[in-house]
Amino acid sequence: MATALPIAPDSADPTFDELLAARPALSLHARDGLLVEEVPLARIAAEYGTPTWVYSAGTLRRRFRALKAALEGAGLQASIHYATKANDNQAVLRVLRAEGAGADIVSAGELRATMAAGIPAGETVFSGVGKTLEEIRFALTQGIFQLNAESVEEIDMISAVASEMGVKAPVSLRVNPDVDARTHAKITTGKAENKFGIAYDDALPLYTRMASLPGIRPIGIATHIGSQITDGMSAYRAAYARLAEMVHALRAHNLPVERVDCGGGLGIPYRDEVAPTPEALAGAIKATLGGLGIPVMLEPGRWLVGPAGFLLASVVLQKRGAARRFLVLDAAMNDLLRPAMYEAWHGIVPVSPLARTAALSSADIVGPVCESGDTFAKGRLMPEMVPGDLVAILDAGAYGAVMSSTYNARPLAAEVLVDGARAALVRVRQTHEDLLASQRLPEWLAG
Ligand SMILES: *Cc1c(COP(=O)(O)O)cnc(C)c1O
Repeated sequence: MATALPIAPDSADPTFDELLAARPALSLHARDGLLVEEVPLARIAAEYGTPTWVYSAGTLRRRFRALKAALEGAGLQASIHYATKANDNQAVLRVLRAEGAGADIVSAGELRATMAAGIPAGETVFSGVGKTLEEIRFALTQGIFQLNAESVEEIDMISAVASEMGVKAPVSLRVNPDVDARTHAKITTGKAENKFGIAYDDALPLYTRMASLPGIRPIGIATHIGSQITDGMSAYRAAYARLAEMVHALRAHNLPVERVDCGGGLGIPYRDEVAPTPEALAGAIKATLGGLGIPVMLEPGRWLVGPAGFLLASVVLQKRGAARRFLVLDAAMNDLLRPAMYEAWHGIVPVSPLARTAALSSADIVGPVCESGDTFAKGRLMPEMVPGDLVAILDAGAYGAVMSSTYNARPLAAEVLVDGARAALVRVRQTHEDLLASQRLPEWLAG
């Protein structure tokens, strides 16, 4: 396909000032440069080094409250189950828990993480197409609120494990509504050809079967149509209308439906996308599912944490190539994979206050990893930069640190939480020793 990469789109990029104006966690101080809340990023770099993930607790709280208020404002009885896979840092989980968040998890590891952060299993949904027997057993032992089942095979596995334990597993059926969320192909999940959920037409017979199994208590239906949805509410409305239709069909067959799980997917503006508001989402839920008289659940990830995170990086050097200028950072695709994996556009802003008055010219912003895909941005207007200058990569709170790898033997970066004027290390930077520590040599090679 000969389409322009979103990483270097044709229309003019937002300016530094426009990027900051749309991100209340950020401000520019005349002497200290870019601040996250009240903490200068230069101070975080001096104290903890780079690359470092920086999270704004105030932004997490503000966004959770805005979503909650929108749902309440629409008169919905709704619970918010934060999609832990977007960012599973313990400090982030605790800030959201203090606001009242439950969790949506996709592995036993995430269940351990959310429980460690004080989120009870009794407020946690377990999603995913491949839960193992051990994971199902662990979740049931902990008293999981709901398992979202995605296949007939999985339903039989859950029933077998639960029966053996002498319990009935609370199971919701994840229905694939066959709608196109019109987001990136790698993150659309609600079309018939995707691996997720049960085909719409199979849901009624399968739910009937669930009700007959000894280890299953059918409690409702769920969907999740994709991630980074910015294309208005039409896909959501279509999906939720189909869920409402399904609830009516189940009730007509005297099958119990206690609640409906609306999934996540609400997008955020990375560049200049017009992302739907929580009020619009609440309105779409109200219009489609509001008349059923049962509670709804939401599983937002990116919308809550994306704008609350920044990847702070240093310029290693500025390279003048034959055709272009490159800013080589000490952060790379192994830290933030989104540009390489989804051709995602992220705002990148110099930390120094002087950068605001400097002349700007086009530059490609890249990492040091040995892959051409290790490119954060192409053709950005940036000032001249020298080694040690700092930049902040914006909106990196979701699907950032959690997707990091140690490719090129690069240790995982540190994570710092900012809360007002306070900053604290919430994940220690990995060391080279850590990378080697888990490796073993067979005896015939040692020595
Ligand atoms: C990933 C995922 C979410 C969260 O998606 P966001 O786009 O981050 O809101 C919610 N539910 C399920 C089942 C998921 O897989």
